[in-house]
Amino acid sequence: EHDGAGACGLLSIDLGALRANYLALCRRTAPVKVAAVVKADAYGLGAGRVAPVLYAAGCRNFFVAHFHEALRLKPYIPSDADIYVLNGLQPGSEITCADAGIVPVLNSLEQLANWSTLGRDRQTRLPAALQFDTGMSRLGLAPEETQEIVGQPSLLDWVDVSFIMSHLACGDEPDNAANTGALANMREVAALFPAARVCFANSGGILLGTDFHGDLARTGIALYGGAPVAGLANPMKPVVRLSVRVIQTRTVPAGTAVGYGGAHVTKGETRLATISAGYADGLPRHLSDTGAAYFDGVRLPIVGRVSMDSMTLDVSALPESALKLGSLVELIGEHQTLEDIANASGTISYEILTRLGQRYHREYL
Ligand code: PLP
Repeated sequence: EHDGAGACGLLSIDLGALRANYLALCRRTAPVKVAAVVKADAYGLGAGRVAPVLYAAGCRNFFVAHFHEALRLKPYIPSDADIYVLNGLQPGSEITCADAGIVPVLNSLEQLANWSTLGRDRQTRLPAALQFDTGMSRLGLAPEETQEIVGQPSLLDWVDVSFIMSHLACGDEPDNAANTGALANMREVAALFPAARVCFANSGGILLGTDFHGDLARTGIALYGGAPVAGLANPMKPVVRLSVRVIQTRTVPAGTAVGYGGAHVTKGETRLATISAGYADGLPRHLSDTGAAYFDGVRLPIVGRVSMDSMTLDVSALPESALKLGSLVELIGEHQTLEDIANASGTISYEILTRLGQRYHREYL
C-alpha cells in the first residue's frame, strides 16, 4: 500500500454503501436471494475487501470469471459460501477445482464431460452450474447441446446441478425485445430441468421485473454503485470516489502547445495544473480535450492528450491560489459520477472501475 501523500491520488471505497446497495437489491428481489459478481477483483475494488462485507450482509453465492480468481477469493469467505467460475473449466483444472470445493459453470458438453469423468472416477456427484445460451451467443450450451442432454440424461449422472443459468445481453436496456426473448428461452430450458434452480438476472435484469429474478439474481455493477440501467436515474449509492494530486501549476501565454503532439494550443493566457494520473491509472486517453476534473465544484477541462501518468487541466476558472502542489482534484465523486466519466470517455462504468489499477492510495470506509 502507498501512503496517502506519496500516491498519485486517493481511491476511496465506501464499504457501507456497498453493503447498503446489496441490501437494497435483496429487498427488491426478496424472497429471491442475490449473488455477488466479484470477478476482476470485484470490478477493481478489491475482492478481498468486498466479499467479506457482502458475506456479512448475507451473501452466500459469489461469482468470479476465472478459476484462479476463485482460488484467490477462497480464503476471504467462510466455507458455507459457494464460489462459481463463470468462464467454466479449463481442461486440467478439474481436480484442483473439485479439491478446492469451487463450483464450475459448465458452458459446453465438453466441459460437462470433463467434470463428469472426474465425478465418475471419484464415485461422487460433483456440483456444477449449467449455463445455457439464451441469445447472447457468448457462453453457454447451445440449444442443440441442451437437446443432447435431454435425450441422454446419463450425461448428468455424475453432476449435481446447483443452478441452471444464463446471461442477458441487453439487461441494461429495459425496452429491448431481446430481454423477453431471452426470458422465453430461459423458461424453455427451465422446463427441461424442473428440479433445478434458475440464476438469471444481472443488475439491469433485476429492474426488468420479478419474471427475470429466477431463484437467484447475480449482480455486479449495481453493488459497486454503477447505474444498472444506462441513461436512467441511478438508484444505487455511490461506492467509489477518486481524486488525483496536483503535481505542477503554471500560467502560460496564448498560443502555448500543451501535451503530446501539441494537440491543444491555448487561446488566451491560461492557468494550467498537471495532475498525477493518466491512462495507466485507468483514466482513458479518450478523455483528452473532452473530459474534466472538478475542484470546489468548478469544472476544470482536461487540455491536450492524457499521458500515461499525468494529464493537464485548464484551471483558469479557479482563484490562482486554489490549487497547490499536493492538492486533490475530483475525478469521480460529487460533481462527476462514474457514469459521467464513462460517458465522457465513450465507455461504460464497468471498464472505468476495472481499470483503475493499483497506483492510488486506497481508503476503505
Ligand atoms: N453474470 C455474468 C455472466 C456476467 O458476465 C456479469 C458481468 O458482466 C454479471 C452476471 C454481472 O452483471 P452486472 O455487473 O451488470 O450486474
